[in-house]
Amino acid sequence: LVKHVDEAPLLDPQGGAFYVRRLKHRMQDCFFRPISSRPGAWIDVMEQRVDDNGVRMETTGETKRCLNLGSYNYLGFADDWDSTCGEQVHAALKIYGPASCSAQGDAGAMSVHRELEEVVANFVGKPAAVVFNMGYNTNQLTLPAIAQAGSLLISDKLNHTSIVNGCRASGAKVMAFKHNMADDLERVVRKAIIEGRGKPGEVYRPWTKIIVVVEGIYSMEGEVCDLRAIVDVAKKYKCYTYVDEAHSIGALGKTGRGICEHAGVHPDEIDILMGTFTKSFGGMGGYIAGSQELIDYLRGASAGLLYSASLSPVVAEQVLRAFQIIQGEDGTTVGRDRLRAIKDNANYFRTKLKQMGCSVLGDDDSPIVPMMLFHSTKIAAFSREALDRDLAVVVVGAPAVPIYGGRVRFCISAAHTKEDLRMALKKISEITKVLNLRYTRSIFG
Ligand code: PMP
Repeated sequence: LVKHVDEAPLLDPQGGAFYVRRLKHRMQDCFFRPISSRPGAWIDVMEQRVDDNGVRMETTGETKRCLNLGSYNYLGFADDWDSTCGEQVHAALKIYGPASCSAQGDAGAMSVHRELEEVVANFVGKPAAVVFNMGYNTNQLTLPAIAQAGSLLISDKLNHTSIVNGCRASGAKVMAFKHNMADDLERVVRKAIIEGRGKPGEVYRPWTKIIVVVEGIYSMEGEVCDLRAIVDVAKKYKCYTYVDEAHSIGALGKTGRGICEHAGVHPDEIDILMGTFTKSFGGMGGYIAGSQELIDYLRGASAGLLYSASLSPVVAEQVLRAFQIIQGEDGTTVGRDRLRAIKDNANYFRTKLKQMGCSVLGDDDSPIVPMMLFHSTKIAAFSREALDRDLAVVVVGAPAVPIYGGRVRFCISAAHTKEDLRMALKKISEITKVLNLRYTRSIFG
């Protein structure tokens, strides 16, 4: 046994998704590109290439000013955080220092966290909220706190990996329904409670609780959740609802209040609202909002609040300020203007790409605009052609999407000007010709 352990390589070259890793190896230069500026509408990208042995990436020392179509900077706070939030951020740095050095449950619950929690709860229309240091952790460590063996989690098939891992870690039974299809959700619920192991025709519900988990906007599809229909099914079968608003809070709805506002669903109809500060707010961290009872319970049950240092107080202050601006509490129309600009920009960009004959996913008003590349070889080709033309884009391949589902995922920002977008579209148009990415609309609808 000792011999075997001695010989066991830490990284098994044949293990895991071997084919996917081989494929990725050849396109390493398209990922982990160092950026030497703030992640605003325009960024400085450091060029990189594979070393002479074809193994390790090295930077060439050159930086390129590129239009950034990849960051989740929906409301442009990454661009001008110093002029919009800087005063508060600097003050917070002086008061608290950069980090809390403790979990919330120990000595890391700082007054700015409490203030932010109150603001979040009011904004999303829930009695209480609690903030986490990371959006990913918010899902990964909350789901196991609220679901256990005996519970049933019914998850949208395309939910984010933080939800998938949170569901797995909970020990609950997990079932998936077809992406964004309320009809299929109903089929799955009925299978779980009615057509289960009970006598024919008899309602059989062997679960301590059933929680339906969905997202406001799906991060790889740019699709907006059909929340009204999903909530109706959940209510009909007395299931709880958990909605991840990472991409929808601050982006959807007239006042930025997310998917509930967009879909005409009252926040009371949702049991647990989750969101992150890394997108519309230009910060870090995440939140859970719900009943006071739920939040009190999480403070004693979530590993994210008990065993992991809390959100940086400086970031918490920046996010607080972003909330003020979005709500117009700074006495300006900056927030309102940006909420309008993000939708205008996203809809303009999506429409133009479709007119070009590209295969574009997602719904109106969604700032995520994925464009299908399909073939895996086109992933790197698109990224490199874009960089050659001073466009920084995020390309996505397996395992984040199916192996034949390669795509470029454009993220549109309120900080993009129409001129920026026009210029980008012109260059994208050139690339679509080079890579043969135009499909007739009759095929792709
Ligand atoms: N939920 C969803 C739907 C996401 O897309 C992401 C990340 N993009 C997260 C959670 C994790 O958030 P964060 O990056 O803030 O950790």
